[in-house]
Amino acid sequence: MPPLFKGKRSIQKCKERTVSGGVVNQVDAVKIYIEYIRYGARRSTAQRISGISTMQSKQIYLELMGEPPKGGRNTTTWKAIVGPGHQLAIPAQKFLGAYLTQCGERIYSSKQIYGVLEAYKAYLAIHSQDPVILSLDKAYFIASCLWDGAEEAHVSSCLHCAATFPSLYPMADQCHVCAHAESASGFSLKKRRSRASVRRLTA
Ligand SMILES: [Zn+2]
Repeated sequence: MPPLFKGKRSIQKCKERTVSGGVVNQVDAVKIYIEYIRYGARRSTAQRISGISTMQSKQIYLELMGEPPKGGRNTTTWKAIVGPGHQLAIPAQKFLGAYLTQCGERIYSSKQIYGVLEAYKAYLAIHSQDPVILSLDKAYFIASCLWDGAEEAHVSSCLHCAATFPSLYPMADQCHVCAHAESASGFSLKKRRSRASVRRLTA
Protein backbone atom coordinates (compact mmCIF):
# COMPACT_ATOMS: atom_id res chain seq x y z
CA MET A 1 0.00 0.00 0.00
CA PRO A 2 1.31 3.51 -0.83
CA PRO A 3 2.02 5.78 2.15
CA LEU A 4 -0.49 8.47 2.99
CA PHE A 5 0.44 11.97 1.84
CA LYS A 6 0.00 13.70 5.14
CA GLY A 7 1.93 16.79 4.01
CA LYS A 8 -0.36 17.41 1.07
CA ARG A 9 -3.40 17.08 3.25
CA SER A 10 -2.23 19.74 5.72
CA ILE A 11 -1.43 22.21 2.92
CA GLN A 12 -4.95 21.73 1.62
CA LYS A 13 -6.30 22.44 5.09
CA CYS A 14 -4.45 25.76 5.31
CA LYS A 15 -6.21 27.00 2.19
CA GLU A 16 -9.62 26.31 3.64
CA ARG A 17 -11.45 28.98 5.53
CA THR A 18 -14.32 28.76 7.92
CA VAL A 19 -17.43 30.65 6.94
CA SER A 20 -20.85 30.18 8.46
CA GLY A 21 -19.81 27.27 10.60
CA GLY A 22 -18.96 25.25 7.49
CA VAL A 23 -15.58 25.03 5.85
CA VAL A 24 -15.38 26.69 2.45
CA ASN A 25 -12.50 27.31 0.12
CA GLN A 26 -10.97 30.54 -1.08
CA VAL A 27 -13.27 30.66 -4.12
CA ASP A 28 -16.35 30.56 -1.91
CA ALA A 29 -14.86 33.22 0.38
CA VAL A 30 -14.42 35.55 -2.61
CA LYS A 31 -17.94 34.74 -3.84
CA ILE A 32 -19.50 35.60 -0.51
CA TYR A 33 -17.41 38.79 -0.35
CA ILE A 34 -18.67 39.86 -3.80
CA GLU A 35 -22.30 39.10 -2.93
CA TYR A 36 -22.13 41.16 0.24
CA ILE A 37 -20.55 44.10 -1.62
CA ARG A 38 -23.16 43.87 -4.41
CA TYR A 39 -25.94 44.15 -1.86
CA GLY A 40 -24.39 47.24 -0.33
CA ALA A 41 -22.23 45.99 2.54
CA ARG A 42 -19.23 48.06 3.51
CA ARG A 43 -15.88 46.73 2.37
CA SER A 44 -14.72 46.20 5.97
CA THR A 45 -17.88 44.24 6.84
CA ALA A 46 -17.68 42.05 3.75
CA GLN A 47 -13.98 41.42 4.36
CA ARG A 48 -14.57 40.38 7.96
CA ILE A 49 -17.41 38.06 6.97
CA SER A 50 -15.53 36.36 4.12
CA GLY A 51 -12.12 36.21 5.78
CA ILE A 52 -10.24 37.31 2.64
CA SER A 53 -7.15 39.52 2.92
CA THR A 54 -7.29 43.32 3.04
CA MET A 55 -5.31 43.59 -0.19
CA GLN A 56 -7.61 41.19 -2.04
CA SER A 57 -10.64 42.90 -0.56
CA LYS A 58 -9.51 46.35 -1.79
CA GLN A 59 -8.66 45.00 -5.25
CA ILE A 60 -12.00 43.26 -5.75
CA TYR A 61 -13.92 46.23 -4.40
CA LEU A 62 -12.25 48.54 -6.89
CA GLU A 63 -12.97 46.15 -9.77
CA LEU A 64 -16.62 45.78 -8.75
CA MET A 65 -17.48 49.35 -7.89
CA GLY A 66 -15.02 51.28 -10.05
CA GLU A 67 -13.96 53.46 -7.12
CA PRO A 68 -12.32 52.99 -3.74
CA PRO A 69 -14.63 52.54 -0.76
CA LYS A 70 -15.65 55.50 1.34
CA GLY A 71 -13.98 55.74 4.72
CA GLY A 72 -15.67 55.92 8.09
CA ARG A 73 -16.43 53.41 10.72
CA ASN A 74 -19.56 51.34 10.91
CA THR A 75 -20.54 51.79 14.51
CA THR A 76 -24.03 51.00 15.64
CA THR A 77 -25.82 49.53 18.62
CA TRP A 78 -28.93 47.38 19.01
CA LYS A 79 -30.63 50.28 20.78
CA ALA A 80 -29.77 52.73 18.00
CA ILE A 81 -31.61 50.50 15.52
CA VAL A 82 -34.60 49.12 17.41
CA GLY A 83 -35.18 51.83 20.02
CA PRO A 84 -38.82 52.99 20.21
CA GLY A 85 -39.76 55.34 17.40
CA HIS A 86 -36.42 54.93 15.62
CA GLN A 87 -36.84 55.09 11.84
CA LEU A 88 -34.96 51.79 11.43
CA ALA A 89 -37.08 49.86 13.93
CA ILE A 90 -39.79 48.87 11.42
CA PRO A 91 -37.29 47.95 8.66
CA ALA A 92 -35.38 45.90 11.27
CA GLN A 93 -38.60 44.09 12.21
CA LYS A 94 -39.28 43.31 8.54
CA PHE A 95 -35.76 41.97 8.03
CA LEU A 96 -36.01 39.84 11.18
CA GLY A 97 -39.23 38.32 9.81
CA ALA A 98 -37.47 37.37 6.57
CA TYR A 99 -34.44 36.07 8.47
CA LEU A 100 -36.59 33.86 10.71
CA THR A 101 -38.41 32.50 7.68
CA GLN A 102 -35.07 31.75 6.05
CA CYS A 103 -33.22 30.17 8.99
CA GLY A 104 -35.74 29.42 11.75
CA GLU A 105 -34.44 28.92 15.28
CA ARG A 106 -30.86 28.57 14.02
CA ILE A 107 -30.64 32.37 14.13
CA TYR A 108 -30.06 32.10 17.89
CA SER A 109 -27.47 29.36 17.85
CA SER A 110 -25.12 29.68 14.89
CA LYS A 111 -23.57 32.13 12.48
CA GLN A 112 -25.71 32.35 9.32
CA ILE A 113 -23.60 34.15 6.74
CA TYR A 114 -25.53 32.80 3.75
CA GLY A 115 -28.81 32.93 5.64
CA VAL A 116 -28.44 36.66 6.35
CA LEU A 117 -27.73 37.34 2.69
CA GLU A 118 -30.66 35.27 1.41
CA ALA A 119 -32.99 36.86 3.98
CA TYR A 120 -31.75 40.31 3.00
CA LYS A 121 -32.49 39.58 -0.68
CA ALA A 122 -36.02 38.50 0.27
CA TYR A 123 -36.46 41.58 2.48
CA LEU A 124 -35.36 43.86 -0.40
CA ALA A 125 -37.57 42.10 -2.92
CA ILE A 126 -40.66 42.67 -0.77
CA HIS A 127 -39.89 46.06 0.75
CA SER A 128 -37.83 47.86 -1.90
CA GLN A 129 -40.47 50.62 -2.14
CA ASP A 130 -40.37 51.43 1.58
CA PRO A 131 -39.27 54.97 2.50
CA VAL A 132 -36.51 53.62 4.77
CA ILE A 133 -34.46 50.56 3.88
CA LEU A 134 -32.26 48.73 6.36
CA SER A 135 -28.69 48.43 5.07
CA LEU A 136 -27.07 45.00 4.76
CA ASP A 137 -24.46 46.08 7.34
CA LYS A 138 -27.18 46.77 9.89
CA ALA A 139 -29.06 43.59 8.95
CA TYR A 140 -25.84 41.64 9.55
CA PHE A 141 -25.29 43.49 12.82
CA ILE A 142 -28.78 42.51 14.05
CA ALA A 143 -28.19 38.89 13.06
CA SER A 144 -24.77 38.81 14.74
CA CYS A 145 -26.23 40.19 18.00
CA LEU A 146 -28.59 37.21 18.01
CA TRP A 147 -26.06 34.46 17.32
CA ASP A 148 -23.59 36.11 19.72
CA GLY A 149 -26.32 36.24 22.38
CA ALA A 150 -25.72 39.96 23.01
CA GLU A 151 -27.16 41.05 26.34
CA GLU A 152 -29.20 43.97 24.98
CA ALA A 153 -30.66 41.99 22.07
CA HIS A 154 -34.16 40.60 22.61
CA VAL A 155 -36.74 39.16 20.27
CA SER A 156 -40.35 39.50 21.38
CA SER A 157 -43.77 38.54 20.13
CA CYS A 158 -46.47 41.15 19.49
CA LEU A 159 -49.69 40.67 21.44
CA HIS A 160 -51.69 42.55 18.79
CA CYS A 161 -50.53 41.06 15.50
CA ALA A 162 -48.39 38.08 16.62
CA ALA A 163 -45.36 39.39 14.71
CA THR A 164 -41.88 38.61 15.99
CA PHE A 165 -39.85 41.77 16.47
CA PRO A 166 -36.47 42.97 17.75
CA SER A 167 -36.90 44.69 21.10
CA LEU A 168 -35.06 46.28 24.00
CA TYR A 169 -36.82 44.24 26.69
CA PRO A 170 -37.74 40.57 26.89
CA MET A 171 -41.28 41.45 28.00
CA ALA A 172 -42.01 43.94 25.18
CA ASP A 173 -45.45 43.11 23.77
CA GLN A 174 -46.16 45.65 21.04
CA CYS A 175 -44.23 45.48 17.78
CA HIS A 176 -42.85 48.51 15.97
CA VAL A 177 -45.48 48.34 13.22
CA CYS A 178 -48.37 48.31 15.71
CA ALA A 179 -46.74 51.04 17.83
CA HIS A 180 -46.39 53.19 14.73
CA ALA A 181 -50.00 52.54 13.68
CA GLU A 182 -51.16 53.48 17.16
CA SER A 183 -49.21 56.71 17.34
CA ALA A 184 -50.18 57.66 13.77
CA SER A 185 -53.89 57.22 14.44
CA GLY A 186 -53.85 58.45 18.03
CA PHE A 187 -55.80 55.35 18.87
CA SER A 188 -54.78 52.83 21.50
CA LEU A 189 -54.93 49.21 20.44
CA LYS A 190 -55.07 48.14 24.04
CA LYS A 191 -58.49 47.49 25.45
CA ARG A 192 -59.64 50.31 27.67
CA ARG A 193 -62.51 50.17 30.07
CA SER A 194 -65.34 52.38 28.96
CA ARG A 195 -66.36 55.19 31.27
CA ALA A 196 -69.61 53.40 31.94
CA SER A 197 -67.89 50.21 33.11
CA VAL A 198 -65.46 52.22 35.28
CA ARG A 199 -68.48 53.96 36.85
CA ARG A 200 -70.12 50.59 37.49
CA LEU A 201 -66.92 49.28 39.12
CA THR A 202 -66.47 52.31 41.34
CA ALA A 203 -70.14 52.68 42.27
ZN1 LIG B 1 -47.79 44.08 16.06
